[in-house]
Amino acid sequence: MSAMTEVAFQQCITAACAARYGIDEVLFACTKCGSLLDVRYDWNRATIPKTLRSHESRWTTSGRSVEARADYSGVWRFRDLLPFAPTDKLVTIGEGRTTLQEADSLATTIGMHPHQLYLQYEGFNPSGSFKDNGMAAAFTMAGVLGRSRVACASTGNTSASLALFARHARSRNGSPLQAVVFVGGGKIAVGKLAQGLDYGAKTIQVEGDFDACMKLVQEAADKLDLYLMNSVNPFRLEGQKTIMYRVLEGLDWEVPDWIVVPGGNLGNTSAFGKAFAELKHLGLIDRVPRIAIINATGANALCTLVNDHDLQWNDSEWDQATIDKHWQTMASENYQAHTVASAIEIGRPVSLTKALRTIDIMNGVVRQVTDEQILDGKALVGVHGFGCEPASGASVAGLRLLLDEKIISLGDRVVCILTGHALKDPAVTVNYHTGAQATPRFANPPVNCAANIEAVEELLSGKD
Ligand SMILES: *Cc1c(COP(=O)(O)O)cnc(C)c1O
Ligand SMILES: [Zn+2]
Repeated sequence: MSAMTEVAFQQCITAACAARYGIDEVLFACTKCGSLLDVRYDWNRATIPKTLRSHESRWTTSGRSVEARADYSGVWRFRDLLPFAPTDKLVTIGEGRTTLQEADSLATTIGMHPHQLYLQYEGFNPSGSFKDNGMAAAFTMAGVLGRSRVACASTGNTSASLALFARHARSRNGSPLQAVVFVGGGKIAVGKLAQGLDYGAKTIQVEGDFDACMKLVQEAADKLDLYLMNSVNPFRLEGQKTIMYRVLEGLDWEVPDWIVVPGGNLGNTSAFGKAFAELKHLGLIDRVPRIAIINATGANALCTLVNDHDLQWNDSEWDQATIDKHWQTMASENYQAHTVASAIEIGRPVSLTKALRTIDIMNGVVRQVTDEQILDGKALVGVHGFGCEPASGASVAGLRLLLDEKIISLGDRVVCILTGHALKDPAVTVNYHTGAQATPRFANPPVNCAANIEAVEELLSGKD
């Protein structure tokens, strides 16, 4: 084993168990107690940056060296904070060069003070969603392990990202990796499905919802030599930590008051809490922001468990019986998650327990918003910003709700995470603006016009 592999290890998240595993053991749960695993580091053996600011200059590195390629990546620029693989093994397709926009026009519209609202556009990744951050890390690990077949269950964006990376990562014999994606039949947004097909992934449409796909892919991974790339793969979350590093960078390394993020499988939520806990531990930040995790009302397991059943992290001794009972109730009621925001249409989030830990670390709150609120939030990002997909609109909808509740103050500094690109799910957008959806508050429908200049003049003479 190289020195690098000794810096990193995997560890069970439950303190009473705390079983350790090597990073080359392919596990998606603790073999002793069944809990999720973390990638952890012996920071004494790692090269810790003196300041976070030291990462900035890497943006300007150029050239073809291994280091320059890593510096170009918005994930691997921060490789000293996720040191599980040597630099020459890092897989990158140019992910993580994303934008933090100071959203003054939106801030004013929703009554916030100027210079306090920021939108983090993770839709600007190569495959159009934040998933690329995690895939860079997971594909690096697939390379370290010498795996040649990779798989995921997906509501669309994980499969698009996996399919793209698989074409560019190389197996030991130099050929692309084989990508197998499991998607719920008929559920996937057309833009996302199109990507997976175009990138050559074997696309398996499962008769069932995301939760059914998730179960099936885990079984298939065990039996059919597929390397599983859902967020139960702890290396994915290491890559997603860097979203928070870039948010801090965009704020000149000042910690904001709030991070607002849509909650689906809760991988981002889990990664963000871990990122801040580590930065605090390393003395690289002096305080941790709060987090607001936003569910859709039609897929609200976290919200229900935390707010109605008082489920808490409790130093890793969460009340498993409460969780099990909730899953049983859902099963007995034949509950199916349902929301227009397909990326967060998830009944049983796989990273639930890690999300509880994040709520503890970041003094978090959980809220739910309706599909109408989600689509209005998305429309606001469209008209005031650079646009986003429906699930991302949940963060702005959640922010508006928490402003109403006065949990978030008008003068707080807030960062909403926009998880996916506006073109992922165009059908939903067109339906919204043409009024096919129930109550669009910000609809901008197209208008019909005769093919002559007078008719155009007439149309444009209106007050608008
Ligand atoms: C995957 C995804 C989510 C959900 O993120 P989790 O980490 O699973 O909570 C939200 N929005 C978009 C666009 C996604 O692709
Ligand atoms: Zn364990």
